[in-house]
Formats: sequence, structure tokens, C-alpha cells
Amino acid sequence: VTAKDSIYPRLPLLAQHVAVSYRGWQIKRTHLGPGFAERLCAAEERTYWSAERLAEFRDERLRAVVAHAAATVPYYRELFRAEGLDPAGVRSLEDLAAALPTLTKQTVQERGAEFRSEAVPAKELVIRGTGGTTGAGLRFATTLGGQQEHEAVQWRFRRWHGIQRGMWCAWFSGQLTVDPERSKPPFWRYNVPGRQVFVSLHHLRLELLGDFVDLLRRRRIPWIHGAPSAIGLLAGHLLDRGEELGYRPVAVTLAAESLLPWQAELIERGFGIRPRQRWVMTEAVAGASECEEGRLHVDDDFAAVEFLPLGDGTYRVVGTNLTNPATPLLRYELNDIVTLDPAGCTCGRGGRTLASVDGRLEDYLVLSDGTLIGAQLVMYRGVTNVAGAQVLQSVPGEVILRVIRGKGYTDADTEALLGSMRRRFGDRLAVTLEFVDSLPREGSGKVRMVVTTLPEGRLERAAALR
Ligand SMILES: [Zn+2]
Repeated sequence: VTAKDSIYPRLPLLAQHVAVSYRGWQIKRTHLGPGFAERLCAAEERTYWSAERLAEFRDERLRAVVAHAAATVPYYRELFRAEGLDPAGVRSLEDLAAALPTLTKQTVQERGAEFRSEAVPAKELVIRGTGGTTGAGLRFATTLGGQQEHEAVQWRFRRWHGIQRGMWCAWFSGQLTVDPERSKPPFWRYNVPGRQVFVSLHHLRLELLGDFVDLLRRRRIPWIHGAPSAIGLLAGHLLDRGEELGYRPVAVTLAAESLLPWQAELIERGFGIRPRQRWVMTEAVAGASECEEGRLHVDDDFAAVEFLPLGDGTYRVVGTNLTNPATPLLRYELNDIVTLDPAGCTCGRGGRTLASVDGRLEDYLVLSDGTLIGAQLVMYRGVTNVAGAQVLQSVPGEVILRVIRGKGYTDADTEALLGSMRRRFGDRLAVTLEFVDSLPREGSGKVRMVVTTLPEGRLERAAALR
């Protein structure tokens, strides 16, 4: 269900539940369908492998990906030829790092078709889109097998924390399943086959937080999932009122944004359970999963991840996907900055551990009615000709959207950008578009998606809810 579906927003409530359920049923019989159980089982068998065994498994996958890319992907065929490289010479992640330059998202955006393998038939392609933290979206192809590998590692993580398939989840989502202008509950839609309640992040304004708490209490939904900025608001609401949730969820899982220590603490106090996070991105070039001991383990069997030192104790991330034969991405640059955890972990899992991932620490946008919008919602889905974007706010309900136009940018992209903001925020946000050649970077080299001078929009403000 996407904003592009023109019929969906006009459907009556029950029909919207049915439409969301139908989509859930499709996903259940494809991504989680035949073949998935075997992949999950294989992924779980690797859970306690030693670092050496994981690295060997990763490099074996990597050799196959490199050979496949050099033989069937036009971009890589040309790159290996131009550099005079023999793909068979790449035996390990170290070899790959020495042989190839890194790859930017911009290159993949501009030369998308050249990254598609000729060996995967068109009928087997599954098209995925990403928003991306600098506002630059990307559309690329994967396969059903690739999707299942992705889901297998997700489910492995969930099962570490007591979540079972078929368990109901309150999924706080930026998808437009509920009209953002709707002012009366329900602000959620049911995916019955997938056991999900899609809760609309667009309605997470302070005066409606009680409605969301009521939903959780009434249904005693065992698994709560969302971005820290959203789940943190709910936890703050409970603590603010001196209320308890009234039941103990099985798990609270977080994704899509960095998790700050005080946010984790706030959520734990609000919900009575420690939240668990997984670092994940649609391109599947890296991943890390929190274990029962609270440490982030790099999913070394899933992607070939490199951490390149920045000289100040932090690392930037370059990753190679190992599970997508349709669009292999070798040494793809991410916007995230990580710190490593040399102490390792006592849980018995091998592989590397991270102390923190700081990629998506973002402030909130403030709409004219006071709604706080997490940066997750400011992603511009479906807009692919934008090389970068940033939102500036100094007045509630008004923003300046700065855009770097990519190759092939046209008026249609402007319309898509403004249309996506209009559909989401309506009259509650006035958007002025400004084209620029570059965006200011932080000290760490990252571009913030949201830059605000409003105190109520600062991420740290949520701490004050305590
Ligand atoms: Zn651990």
C-alpha cells in the first residue's frame, strides 16, 4: 500500500483493513513463503559460529558475488576490464578492499540500469525502494531469494528476543495507511495474515498519544516495533502521566534511526522492558543485531562490511551485499558512522561487535498543530533524481526544503517531492523549495536531514518528557 495507490485513500475503513491484509497475505506467501523456513533455519545455525568460521563463510559468499558481478553486471564487467583486474584474484574482503574503489549511492542512482545483472530474468526481479537519510532515494532490483535472506536475518534477531512468527505486532509505520488528515481514531489498520497493526506515525501528536496507549492496552499487543523517536514519545507520555502500560510486552524492537542511551532508558522505564535494536538498510550491504546481553553484533554472515577509520576513534561504513544476485553492490558507501566495541560479548556469538551506530540521529519537524514528525517520515519515497535534500525549520508549520538536483531531474520530480509532503502533512506544513549545489556537513561528514532552530524540535527535548 503506497501513496501512489489512488483508490486506497478513498476506500471505507473496513475495505482499507482488507486492502492492508491482502498486501500482508501476499508478503506472507512470497517473502515468508516456500523456501523461507529453510533460510531461517540456516541463518540460525550460524548464530554461534566463531569469528573465523563466519569470515570464511562470508568470503566464500563474496567470491561468488564478485565472479557473478564481473561476468553478468555491465558496470562491473567494465570496471574489472578497465582496471585490468582478475575477479578470481579476489579471495577475501581484504582483497576486495585493495582491488576496488568504493561506490557512492549517487553513482548507483545515475547509472542504475548498468548495475542490473543480465543473468537474472526480468520476471524474477523484485523492485525495492529506499528513502535514505540524505533524502536521496534509490530504486533497485532484488530477487525473492534475496528478500528471504533479508527476512531470515531479521527473524533470527526477533527470535533471540522471544518473538515468534504469528505473534501480533504494533508496527509504527510511516506508510500512508491512514489519511494524515484523519482526526478520529482508529489511526491504525490491520494486516490480519501478517499479524500486524500498522500504526500511523502521522498521528503521533501529543494529544493523540493516549489513543495509541489505549490500543496497546486493549489488545495487549505483545510486540511493539518502530523508530526510537516514535516509541520514545509514547514511553515519555506514560512516564509523564505516571501511568503504566498495564501489561508486559514480549518485546520492543527498534529500527530506522540511531538509538541513544537515554532513549533506550526512557523506553525501558515506560514499557517495563528493554528495547532491542537492529541496524538494517534496504540495500542489505550491512547489518547488526542486538543480542540478549545488549550488544550489537555485526551480521557477518549476511553482508561483507568494512569499517574504515576516520582517525577520531569512529569509523565510516562500506558494505557489499551477498544476497542480491540482481543488483550486486560492491563496497557501497553508507552514511552511518560507527564505533567498535573491542571488548566483545559474553553471549557466545562470534564476529564483530559495535558500541554504537550514529547514522540517523535526527531532530523532529514541528507541524502547525504541534505534531512532532520524526525524520523517518521526511524520506522522499519514489523520488530518485535528487542527489541530496535537507529540511530547514525555524517557524512551526513552515520549512525550507533544500534540494540538490541529480542528473535527469525535471519538474515532475519537483511535483513528486512537494506532492509527497502535501499528502503527508497537508496544510499543517508550508514547504518552500530551494535548489542548492551543496549541503552543509557536520563535523563527522554527515548531512543532517532535518536542521531546526526550534527548541521543541530538538531530539534532546524528548528527554525533558521525563
Ligand atoms: Zn552478545
